[in-house]
Amino acid sequence: MSADNPLRFVVEPHANPTPADQITAALANPVFGRVFTDHMVTIRWTEGKGWHDAKVEARRPFQIDPACAVLHYAQEIFEGMKAYRGEDGKISLFRPQANARRFRESAQRMSMADLPEAVFLEAVEKLVDIDRAWIPGSEGSSLYIRPFMFASESFLGVRAAHEYIFCVIACPVGPYFKAGKSAVTVWVSDQYTRAAPGGTGAAKCGGNYAASLIAQTEASAKGCDQVVFLDAAQHRWIEELGGMNVFFVMDDGSLQTPPLSGTILPGITRASIIELARREGLTVNEAPYEFAQWQADAASGRVKETFACGTAAVVTAIGQVRHANGEFNIADGGEGPVTKRIRDQLTGIQRGKVADPFGWVHHVA
Ligand SMILES: *Cc1c(COP(=O)(O)O)cnc(C)c1O
Repeated sequence: MSADNPLRFVVEPHANPTPADQITAALANPVFGRVFTDHMVTIRWTEGKGWHDAKVEARRPFQIDPACAVLHYAQEIFEGMKAYRGEDGKISLFRPQANARRFRESAQRMSMADLPEAVFLEAVEKLVDIDRAWIPGSEGSSLYIRPFMFASESFLGVRAAHEYIFCVIACPVGPYFKAGKSAVTVWVSDQYTRAAPGGTGAAKCGGNYAASLIAQTEASAKGCDQVVFLDAAQHRWIEELGGMNVFFVMDDGSLQTPPLSGTILPGITRASIIELARREGLTVNEAPYEFAQWQADAASGRVKETFACGTAAVVTAIGQVRHANGEFNIADGGEGPVTKRIRDQLTGIQRGKVADPFGWVHHVA
């Protein structure tokens, strides 16, 4: 308990936790998002009462009424972050305060209850602590943490709900893309957009993903791993991928990434790469980049590398681009040296192998 966090968490450990040998087997080769730890954290919010009933308990299904607001009006937001086990055995989170802050911003956009950042942090730390045996130590693996909130009030009617549930679950994960793949192929959607000015593109809400799935399905049908979205107004400017931001490495050594204009999710990985690169003396331009220009620059060699970034996929090279009128490669279609260096530095800081001059690493006691 602290002044800005007056909630007391009740801890009810799992009565039959997973035996150690089964956890070891589960950590050997975790498929993303399929295996979950034993516990979850839940906190409830009710209009007039605020946040209450904070609990660390066995992971179990929710009981919700068929009229539960989230099922009808999609008031739902989430976060994605990772806990790492360093070579020294220390457990750490990467910039969790940034996730806590973004969660509040998402909640505000979706007219949901405001969760104090200290409560968010304590909830995440409590789950990581009780399920610490589930944090893989191998290179490229980590514990993916999913804090989320949904409207839990039972009613039909279009207004902000008066009840919410905040929950944190976690799953051990390995690499997001198939191992051994040095670069991914992307599909540029000319038909569907992810976000429009004034819309919810900058909020991490489930609805954005619901709207982007059709384009992701189209991308898969075209043999691509991911979809690139263009702006809604002109279908000209590159915005981001379905769940990752994008960077371009130019032949003068500079980096370029689309600006946070309200239709792009403000990635913490994106922000960290900008800081890292600038500290290295690289120029980073947050400037609009046209799809036609990307195509021309790939052909002329002005763009040397392109990579996607996000907590789940970390830093992943984009090697090939497919679109309605053809396809093109970025350089030789593999991972470039700048992409590799940025990934090595970022993952090095996250895993405690590289010095952290920014104070980004948050140790969990
Ligand atoms: C979460 C997310 C990202 C990446 O954000 P990080 O904080 O770097 O994980 C990028 N785009 C979208 C649409 C996202 O939902």
